[in-house]
Amino acid sequence: MSERTRAALALWRLDTEVQRAETLVTSLTAQLGDQVKVKAADLAIRRANEAVARARSAQKDAEFTLAQLEARIKEHDTLLWSGKGSPRDLEALRLELERERTRRVALEEAALAAMEVTARAERDASRVEANVARALAELNAGNATRVADRSSAIARRAEAADQRQALVATMHPGDVAAYERIRARTSDGVPVAELSGARCEGCRTELPSGFVQRVRREEAPLPCPSCGRLLHAPA
Ligand SMILES: [Zn+2]
Repeated sequence: MSERTRAALALWRLDTEVQRAETLVTSLTAQLGDQVKVKAADLAIRRANEAVARARSAQKDAEFTLAQLEARIKEHDTLLWSGKGSPRDLEALRLELERERTRRVALEEAALAAMEVTARAERDASRVEANVARALAELNAGNATRVADRSSAIARRAEAADQRQALVATMHPGDVAAYERIRARTSDGVPVAELSGARCEGCRTELPSGFVQRVRREEAPLPCPSCGRLLHAPA
């Protein structure tokens, strides 16, 4: 392989490296900017805590209503046992007490149910917080790796770009121009192709033996007559 063809091939390798590093930097930058998980975690904790607050408030209300009724029952009970008042008043009081005691059973059940709801909400909130803490720890650990990977990808991209610039400075200007022109024109952006026997690996065309001899002999990298890629023949 001629020096000029070797240089064109090296240029392609560097361009591939720049491109690969560029893709990696873009992807890692996007991943680092992704705060969706953090927002979802904040929301989950807020909702769980709101549920706990609601349950505690409902429990407090139920307990307060029950306490009020118990105070009234005690008062009415004392009044009834004192025997003061007309028989008619006392009978009304006795009926009232009966209703209150029935209601007390329902209120006690409601207070107990509210207590269970609170306990469940508190357990849920603890679980959510533990899960979120674990998820965020994983995310942060992942981000540290991403930051490091991104830095090295940026360094690699810069290094390859420098090497490319240095290489281009030593190349035949016509070869660089042909390379850039073909690179812009080919559908896959690959401006070089290996000559395998008499076949161009870029377009899989069998080339005439006279042309193949020229590719092997000439200093300048020759374009495939079919696809235009610069051909290089392995030594
Ligand atoms: Zn070809």
